[in-house]
Amino acid sequence: MFARLFLTLPLLALFGAAPSAQPVRTGVTKDIVAACGTRDGWSDPAPPAHIHGRSWYVGTCGITVVLVETSAGLVLIDTGPADATPHVLANIKALGFNPRQVKYLLMTHEHFDHVGGMAAIQKATGAQLVVLPAAAAVLRSGKPDREDPQFGFLVKEPMTPARVDRMLGDGGMLKVGDTRFSLHANPTHSPGSASWTWKSCDKGKCLTIAYADSISTISDDDYHFTAHPDRVEAARAGLRVIEALPCDVLLTPHPGGSDLLERLSGTEPLSTPRACIAYAASGSERLAGRLAKEAAAK
Ligand SMILES: [Zn+2]
Repeated sequence: MFARLFLTLPLLALFGAAPSAQPVRTGVTKDIVAACGTRDGWSDPAPPAHIHGRSWYVGTCGITVVLVETSAGLVLIDTGPADATPHVLANIKALGFNPRQVKYLLMTHEHFDHVGGMAAIQKATGAQLVVLPAAAAVLRSGKPDREDPQFGFLVKEPMTPARVDRMLGDGGMLKVGDTRFSLHANPTHSPGSASWTWKSCDKGKCLTIAYADSISTISDDDYHFTAHPDRVEAARAGLRVIEALPCDVLLTPHPGGSDLLERLSGTEPLSTPRACIAYAASGSERLAGRLAKEAAAK
């Protein structure tokens, strides 16, 4: 027994403490673009794909869901719509994890296509839901925010109420084992919009992943941004936040918003300089275009 212990200790010293080593996971596709083919629906199942280090894409062909392994359990960011829940749970299992290993649930924005499955995933995992105060009421009630420019659409898509376990303010940080998740409020797309950044290490190379929220300023038919100068100012402030994110690898809630599936498949580089700056600039352009269109219609 002692001999075994003496043999084990040096081995542990050599191989045991390697938090940045890339684990070998089953079920990962090398080509998520081919796996999805022409399917890009919010609930179209996709196999899991490796992002970097211990971060994986476990969403659908049309909606991003991110799983991060830490030394103290898993963190899931977004869930996709309610009917994608079985696919997301199946992807977590396909990677060799048990959904009960998910300890925290985080989110980008309070719309049914990204967090409609939150209540069901919370039930399946038992994880704690951490949200920005501005998104809490929507998650708790399942009903949209009256201030949301898309209220008229969203009210037709109520969500199952979820339990909010903890609120974290803008600039807050959630430490889960060896990984720190920083929260950046960026109320461009919705009042409760948030981006998350964390450090990811792979074979000794460390990068910052930025899961930056949607940058589109769209609305229901009755809403006019020109009649809501505060909303326009909040949207602009949110774009400035995204522009300034630490951002070696950009992830977006709609994978098409940043060629994410192509980048996961390796047909485009995963990491590009100025990715968040370019992403924010496209949002600014869209907002300017929307304001100009409204002004011309007057
Ligand atoms: Zn949305």
